[in-house]
Amino acid sequence: EEEKSLNFIEHIVEDDLKDGYAKDDLRFRFPPEPNGYLHIGHASSICLNFGLGLRYDAPVNLRFDDTNPAKEESEYVEAIKKDVKWLGYSWDTECYASDYFGQLYEWAVALIKKGKAYVDSQTSEEIAKQKGTPTEPGTESPFRNRSVEENLQLFEGMKNGNFKEGEHVVRAKIDMASSNMLMRDPIMYRILHKAHHRTNTDWCIYPMYDWTHGESDYIEQVSHSLCTLEFLPHRELYDWFLDQLVDSKMLRPKQREFARRNLSHTVVSKRKLLQLVESGVVSGWDDPRMPTISGLRRRGYTPESIRNFADTIGIAKRENVVDVSLLEFHVREHLNKIAPRVMAVLNPLKVVITNYVEGSEEQLDAENNPEDAAAGSRQVPFSREIYIEKEDFREEANRKFFRLKLGGEVRLKNGYIIKAESCTKDEDGNVVEVQCTFDPKSKSGSGTEESLRKVKGTLHWVSIPHAIEAEIRLYDRLFSDPTPDAHKDRDFMDFVNADSLKRITGYLEPSLKSAQIGERYQFQRLGYFNVDEDSTHEKLVFNRTVTLRDTWAK
Ligand code: ATP
Ligand code: MG
Ligand code: MG
Repeated sequence: EEEKSLNFIEHIVEDDLKDGYAKDDLRFRFPPEPNGYLHIGHASSICLNFGLGLRYDAPVNLRFDDTNPAKEESEYVEAIKKDVKWLGYSWDTECYASDYFGQLYEWAVALIKKGKAYVDSQTSEEIAKQKGTPTEPGTESPFRNRSVEENLQLFEGMKNGNFKEGEHVVRAKIDMASSNMLMRDPIMYRILHKAHHRTNTDWCIYPMYDWTHGESDYIEQVSHSLCTLEFLPHRELYDWFLDQLVDSKMLRPKQREFARRNLSHTVVSKRKLLQLVESGVVSGWDDPRMPTISGLRRRGYTPESIRNFADTIGIAKRENVVDVSLLEFHVREHLNKIAPRVMAVLNPLKVVITNYVEGSEEQLDAENNPEDAAAGSRQVPFSREIYIEKEDFREEANRKFFRLKLGGEVRLKNGYIIKAESCTKDEDGNVVEVQCTFDPKSKSGSGTEESLRKVKGTLHWVSIPHAIEAEIRLYDRLFSDPTPDAHKDRDFMDFVNADSLKRITGYLEPSLKSAQIGERYQFQRLGYFNVDEDSTHEKLVFNRTVTLRDTWAK
């Protein structure tokens, strides 16, 4: 039964174990570039790599692929570490590609000595022109046959800062006629006079991704280097570089590819997410509308729900778009189990219970979570004046309207049955108050015949004099289009939903007075909400994580 649930990457590992790999040979890594915050796509890669680590009891490194000083920052390193931990994983070793700059330089020198690399002094435009096309071979650089001595001297000069950016590059000498364009003498080093977030100004030449990644895997003795499908054509180069280095006593890493995961109604690309941040469309990388791990955390998502989502969609060989409603399903499913129930009214209508003694009040018993007996119960105050939702009252309605209407009855959750007798309207004809009577013998849980009486509707409510006010943030999708970045002639920013955030005042039962930042609740009949970090002693701020039902299904 377990065999059935193996994904194709796990099958590759299983086959390798049968073909002579020892269990101790297995080692994995998750290799983010610290040029942005992690997003829900990365969660798939994290769950895959750390999942393999757990399955085979093998180490998993967290490797920062930090070879581009122009875009990388320590802030991103810290955010990535926090997010991986929060998802519930722990890495074996924290590694940085930049720690290998010295080793990579030595290996590049060795390649030059073997006649496998050279310094090219053409401009990037000239180099690009000579690349050729997939059907026509490229042209060899006039510098391709420089002597080893001259190459070594120039390379050292590059390292020592004797040249300007763009003056020289180092290229691997492979095959300008290869059918794989990436094999046509790929660039290994470029000059960048930029400080690096870790190596500062130690280096002014920086290795390219292809020259760094496989070698880092080799240094760390990663057995299976898993990356997304766009790297499939890079595999030949990954192998070529390893061929130049691998010592037969060392393990040779394998690159294997899986499909990138996309989520509907959003973008999963750090570059595009950065654009949203910089343009001010969102408040930051952790804006609750962002598909980042930090945004989802702030929105109220649980690590379990994200892991379950990643497990459910699994690992694919072909790229596709997963509907965001599946992610919402998983958070709803988890919060249903763990979130305490409370009552809050977001669109208030005043109800006066005319036969309830003025000035008196009482405490009602309320179950915290019907899904979790251990969650216990709390007291909710009841009084003569309460709020219900505006949508829950109509003067007249047909038989299918199970909420409150004139002459009709409903049960107040945890409380009494009330009957609407009359209502008051403002000059524009809007109902501003409903006058009700209550049945004193109908109190929930009191055991009386009346308490067991069935009425069709049950409404949530709050007692007006006891209610606390809070800011409630209601979110809609950040993009109005399911695939905002898949339109040929349109920019993804054109599809930003201008109404994705609504801030309103809500009225909450007083038990929430002591709610702490990050706590998650079900506001009954309304959805799941969590306490936002913008909350202060004076004012709580809640985010709606998700509604109770998928209102988008229709
Ligand atoms: P982005 O385009 O968002 O910058 P990236 O692939 O350049 O993505 P990296 O920091 O290099 O970002 O990603 C770290 C790892 O996560 C890589 O192995 C990458 O292939 C994987 N990854 C990134 N995005 C996705 C995705 N949408 N689905 C699955 N895996 C992903
Ligand atoms: Mg990358
Ligand atoms: Mg990238």
